[in-house]
Amino acid sequence: MTTTRAVHARSLVDPDAFWAEQARRIDWQTPCEQVLDYSRPPFARWFVGGRTNLCHNAVDRHLAKRAEQPALVHVSTETDQRRSYSYRELHAEVNRMAAVLLALGVRQGDRVLIYMPMIPEAVFAMLACTRIGAVHSVVFGGFASVSLAARIDDARPRVVVSADAGSRGGKVVPYKPLLDEALRLAQNPPEKVLLVDRGLAPMERTPGRDEDYLAWRERVGGTQVPCEWLESSAPSYILYTSGTTGKPKGVQRDTGGYAVALATSMEYIFCGKPGDTMFCTSDIGWVVGHSYIVYGPLLAGMTTVLYEGTPVRPDAGILWQLVEQYRVNVMFSAPTAIRVLKKQDPAWLTRYDLSSLRMLFLAGEPLDEPTASWIQSAIGKPVVDNYWQTETGWPIIALQHGIEALPAKLGSPGLPVYGYDVRIVDEQTGAECAPGQKGVVAIEGPLPPGCMSTVWGDDERFVKTYWSGFPDRQRYSTFDWGVRDEDGYLFILGRTDDVLNVAGHRLGTREIEESIASHPAVAEVAVVGIADPLKGQVALAVCILRDAGRAATPQDRMALEGEIMQTVDRQLGAVARPSRVVFVGALPKTRSGKLLRRAIQAVAEGRDPGDLTTIEDPSALAQFREALQG
Ligand code: ATP
Ligand code: MG
Repeated sequence: MTTTRAVHARSLVDPDAFWAEQARRIDWQTPCEQVLDYSRPPFARWFVGGRTNLCHNAVDRHLAKRAEQPALVHVSTETDQRRSYSYRELHAEVNRMAAVLLALGVRQGDRVLIYMPMIPEAVFAMLACTRIGAVHSVVFGGFASVSLAARIDDARPRVVVSADAGSRGGKVVPYKPLLDEALRLAQNPPEKVLLVDRGLAPMERTPGRDEDYLAWRERVGGTQVPCEWLESSAPSYILYTSGTTGKPKGVQRDTGGYAVALATSMEYIFCGKPGDTMFCTSDIGWVVGHSYIVYGPLLAGMTTVLYEGTPVRPDAGILWQLVEQYRVNVMFSAPTAIRVLKKQDPAWLTRYDLSSLRMLFLAGEPLDEPTASWIQSAIGKPVVDNYWQTETGWPIIALQHGIEALPAKLGSPGLPVYGYDVRIVDEQTGAECAPGQKGVVAIEGPLPPGCMSTVWGDDERFVKTYWSGFPDRQRYSTFDWGVRDEDGYLFILGRTDDVLNVAGHRLGTREIEESIASHPAVAEVAVVGIADPLKGQVALAVCILRDAGRAATPQDRMALEGEIMQTVDRQLGAVARPSRVVFVGALPKTRSGKLLRRAIQAVAEGRDPGDLTTIEDPSALAQFREALQG
């Protein structure tokens, strides 16, 4: 019997053989001459000399066997629209989009920036780019003009593809004015803007620059655009990291390595088979959306659900209703979405027939034990935590149920995934840590196929940022803390910049958060370290309660604060006890649902919170300020 550990060992001992085998999962126009070229570390080139095309493998390849199978199902609870595209229809739409991009002057190697809501045209545009060898850069729809302009100047697209508007929680968000302002701010604006008019918001058009997609779509008719066979290392896309900790980095992805890595992960990790349906609730603006809304499921010949909407509209049962309706087999979401559901009536979770669903995958942030066990028992399906980054494009740590069914350990994403030589190392010396000893999660080069090839346009930044953190040797740093247990399971303990130093004790914010989250009244919590004249730093906890009524009066709040402090005292000791616990209705998060600790910290210390362009809801910070004063 193959075991996860044996597959992992083989992938590291004989990467050439392992990955050559996986490469057979996709079509190559020309097979590679060399599996790996690592002659210039840390730059790894996979499947050197091989020629392939992502769009061919995601779309065209399936026409022979599954032309009439749904490829893309679009559901918008924002505009109340549903529409399904078979592989044949998807192929036709992608061809049309590709023909339009060519007509607007886009050529192989050119960048196309996609600033779009969750509509089918966004997926057509991504696939059309990879079809013609253009490099897409998707920027989360509705991002502020300043962030968009910075990405335009970094990627220097020939064309921007956008739409009149998106919609969130029933509110129309006009994109065009944001885009116009970004184009005004940008040093290097593109010559052409291609606009999909959804009829949600009026658009002002700049003659000569702004083009109408629907008109062009008619004009190009049924033109067939052949797939451009690209050398495996040719860039497929640029994607900027979430910017949770600082200036976003333009992650450059290759073509062949990414296709092989995703195809392999679909079987070994996600257990997705051709004909299955996958529903990933992320957004195409994030890496999870790139890999597991668009490319992964389509490479595998699955049906993918593209959902525009929130988990709680029209009601908190919507995600499960979609599972029932589309017979979803594989679902992928984020802990933040599950915590949102945790604040709703649990009856929504048992209302729909979830028998088609095999597993629920969660990634993007730490999955705390209470949330994991809550959702697992509520839906009665295995919950698979998986840990990775925009940089890697696919999971680094996960249980790999397609290889072997191993038991999960709550709080751990599981074992290192094949291809990744994961080490827990001492932050200062780079020496490997013993089991149970906390260190930085590092990866020994080369990174496996599909991971970032470099920082777009800045090889030096790639080496300096990711590979220069340890004194003894060049190693990739994830900038996350972790620990390995005796069985080899890895636990992520938060980001290396999320530590607080209380009277000389270094404490992870994550550990304190876990402890507070175990209090039954708490739905969600953020802990930050704030400056203290005596102790250096002290912990401050910001909580959302399951039932806000529990903190209605100052007396209630004091009593609850005391209980929470006692919980931490008992579990971690008095040094970790927060100096204050405040209660809010919402936490400041990025658009991708990650906590903006640096903003909370700044406000708590009376400083300017700095760059807030990636914040989801600015009123959350105002609420926090108020709670601090109250
Ligand atoms: P930036 O690098 O710009 O600050 P970011 O790190 O938030 O942004 P992403 O690449 O979207 O951008 O997020 C990856 C990070 O998310 C990981 O490094 C880790 O900190 C966290 N993460 C992702 N999945 C998990 C998980 N399953 N468990 C714990 N943490 C996770
Ligand atoms: Mg990061």
